[in-house]
Amino acid sequence: MNVVTRFAPSPTGFLHIGGARTALFNYLFTKRYKGQFLLRIEDTDKARSTDIAIKAIISGLEWLNLNHDGKIVFQSHNSLRHKNIADELLKSGNAYRCYLSNEEQNQIRNDYMKRGLPFRSPWRNKKYNNENENSYVIRIKMPDEGFTEIKDLVQGKVRIANNKLDDFVLLRSNNLPTYMLAVVVDDYDMGITHIIRGDDHLNNAFRQHWIYKFLDWKVPDFAHIPLIHGEDGSKLSKRHGALGVEEYKEMGFLSDSINSYLMNLGWRASEKEPITLSEASKIFEIKSVGKSSSKFNISKLKNINSYFLKTENPKNIINLIISNNELGIEKYKKRIVKALPYLIERASTINDLVDASTWLKNDNYEVIFEENLKFNSNDLSLLVSFKEYLRGLNIDSKIEIEDHFNKWLTKENIKIKDIGKNLRLCLTGSGSSIDLMKILDILGIEEIIRRLSYNLDRS
Ligand code: GLU
Repeated sequence: MNVVTRFAPSPTGFLHIGGARTALFNYLFTKRYKGQFLLRIEDTDKARSTDIAIKAIISGLEWLNLNHDGKIVFQSHNSLRHKNIADELLKSGNAYRCYLSNEEQNQIRNDYMKRGLPFRSPWRNKKYNNENENSYVIRIKMPDEGFTEIKDLVQGKVRIANNKLDDFVLLRSNNLPTYMLAVVVDDYDMGITHIIRGDDHLNNAFRQHWIYKFLDWKVPDFAHIPLIHGEDGSKLSKRHGALGVEEYKEMGFLSDSINSYLMNLGWRASEKEPITLSEASKIFEIKSVGKSSSKFNISKLKNINSYFLKTENPKNIINLIISNNELGIEKYKKRIVKALPYLIERASTINDLVDASTWLKNDNYEVIFEENLKFNSNDLSLLVSFKEYLRGLNIDSKIEIEDHFNKWLTKENIKIKDIGKNLRLCLTGSGSSIDLMKILDILGIEEIIRRLSYNLDRS
């Protein structure tokens, strides 16, 4: 099957989670059929489009690995072509010049609406006068009777009575196209075979259908995917997590998790267990995307992220935890390598891992040990004894630190519980839930001595 899809965002804001899912479904469908996935920036609304938004969309897609084929198409570069097509529709009698002022237009619209009729301009049937200097818009001439039917790959067969369709504007008085015209012309010129987008565009599809028909162009297949809603069922807003993709990155989510979770929002096959982009690319079916809207749930996203933290290559995770300008990075890195399997058990995000590994750093004792620790004299002497015991050891010794520790416990004739809590506090600054033996192993004799000395000197 020949497949060419596109993601066509308007750069009026960041790449939010709903847009990312539209891009993802287009991408998966395309990969499944070894087609082409194109990117078109719909920047005709110059007042609302920004370069920052364009950059955010491009970098968001890159981060999600939703790489497009070919060059990015900027819709605003095609305005002349859009105008020519509007003129062609004019010539073939499928569109007309409308000279109504805004007020006249509103009046007629209100009047027609009250009577349950679609908007028709009185200019629809008038012969236009080439000499009329007043500014005009070009409107499509919609059929008055019959139905418009779309066979949507997600919604099934859907239809609307043609007397519900307004004579909408194709070309504005400044010769710039409306969204309705530009999108059809660009999709045709780009050879788009399948239009996969949010179902808030379903109503536009009925209108766009007529532009294709009047131009004798093949209507592409449509797939209108249900919108994502908030957990309370209302429209997804910032409050529900409709944030930019970048913000999820900053919160410590992996792109694999975002993709996998977004698949879950609508595509049934991905519900059983998290899958990666490449796995999904082999089996994705647009027909198995459900018709009902899905609800965004941040705890599910976190669960999926915990899963991917565990399956991701540890090297990549470590690079995400450590920022390169940190001091004493080498020792710190070695400790994180050792600690990662334990830290990851309790983490949902990279940011959790960053927090949970603060105690592994080398040169920020002020941060690790915020307060001076206070011990009673018995505890203090035990800690001093352990420190002295370690100092007396041959550091190169091949014996595991755990064995040293046990020997020392026997020598002092105490149990682990007699020292455990205080030792943990002296070494990690908190009640870190990692097993004490692991903490000893991760820090190593030298660092244990340093930390004990630091805290005993201050207590
Ligand atoms: N630019 C439109 C949007 O961002 C999408 C156009 C389309 O997919 O047809 O909502």
